[in-house]
Amino acid sequence: MPINDNQVVTLNFTLKDDKGSVIEETTKETPFSYISGNSQILPKLEENINGMLIGSKKSVVLEPTEAYGEYKEDAIQSVNRSEFPEGTKLEEGMGFVANTPDGKQMPFTVTKIDGDDITLDFNHPLAGKKLTFEVELLNIRDASPEELQHGHVHGADGHHH
Ligand SMILES: [Zn+2]
Repeated sequence: MPINDNQVVTLNFTLKDDKGSVIEETTKETPFSYISGNSQILPKLEENINGMLIGSKKSVVLEPTEAYGEYKEDAIQSVNRSEFPEGTKLEEGMGFVANTPDGKQMPFTVTKIDGDDITLDFNHPLAGKKLTFEVELLNIRDASPEELQHGHVHGADGHHH
């Protein structure tokens, strides 16, 4: 039975990079849920899950372009420390979110600090990586009208108000 749009799909997954290191992992106690057909997960991943049966497992391999994009050198920028609000504590490896003038949110990572010269990387942390999702499909059910209106899953494995 294929998954239709607007269903709540619950699964466990282990996400690994191409070296086999675990990047993210859900557990039996904290499975992951999303509403199908609503672009809530990577399209290519969703396409692969759509053919799965409850209880089945599948390994889905995504090239960088099917996942978080290629790593872009021009997404690296140098700024002066003074561009940060005064008193901001900066350390290499820290993540921030910048608000662009048109209201978009741009996450970035501080990759290098050299005195007042701060190097920022606006690439997604998983950009340029080939990813493997080991998926176990746990459940499929219809989403409630309220869930569809809110755009997220309610209940035991979802959002709590
Ligand atoms: Zn809600």
